[in-house]
Amino acid sequence: MSGIVIAIDGPAGTGKSTVAREVARRLGLAYFDTGATYRVATLACLREGVDFAATSDVAAMVATMNVSLMLNPANPHVELDGEDVSALIRTDTVALSVSKVATNLEARPILQDLQRDVIATERVGGYSSGAGVCAEGRDVTTVIAPEAEVRVLLTADEEVRVARRAGEGADAATVREAVLGRDKADSAVVSFHEAADGVVTIDTTDLTIDEAVQAVIELAQAQQQ
Ligand code: C5P
Repeated sequence: MSGIVIAIDGPAGTGKSTVAREVARRLGLAYFDTGATYRVATLACLREGVDFAATSDVAAMVATMNVSLMLNPANPHVELDGEDVSALIRTDTVALSVSKVATNLEARPILQDLQRDVIATERVGGYSSGAGVCAEGRDVTTVIAPEAEVRVLLTADEEVRVARRAGEGADAATVREAVLGRDKADSAVVSFHEAADGVVTIDTTDLTIDEAVQAVIELAQAQQQ
């Protein structure tokens, strides 16, 4: 017996995290936010005063940081040195630096290996007892789990994406930079605006969260028949 892997990619503001988490909850899967691994690595560097320009120092921090990921979709959280940092990794300070870690070509493979390990564990055991995992990010459908049974790219119009994030607080300029600036920086190392072969695009511009969740679940059900 081997669990299902549902991979969901897309830029910021497409509803990716909310959709992936709800899909996991409804299907009894683990929920894996791969972005959280980049965010917690960024927080670790900020805390230890690691210079983001010193690529090897960042990679060394990433290789040695003490991180635990809790994959329960009802209460996902991330711990750094035993401390719950789930809220801290969502701050603007982290959001505005995270691309520096994500585009660090020494650090990125270390985090990618960690992500592959998490997915492999959930296929056969782990939090989901082997039911599987819904994993979201930028390169899950293409690089981390190209073998996933369901592969989805969520998209949405740029202005809609910025507006969705603006609704979560923060001032307009910061939001615009945290969404569009981050996408631009991230695009340097990973392509997530166009669906790769075999990846289904779901445009969420005019969809409610529930409609997007339904669309992904239908793909999963079709795959299992
Ligand atoms: O998804 P989230 O916005 O939390 O991701 C934070 C950052 O982590 C992204 O801006 C990107 O730099 C990086 N990331 C990535 N590859 C992934 C997931 C996230 O490069 N699979």
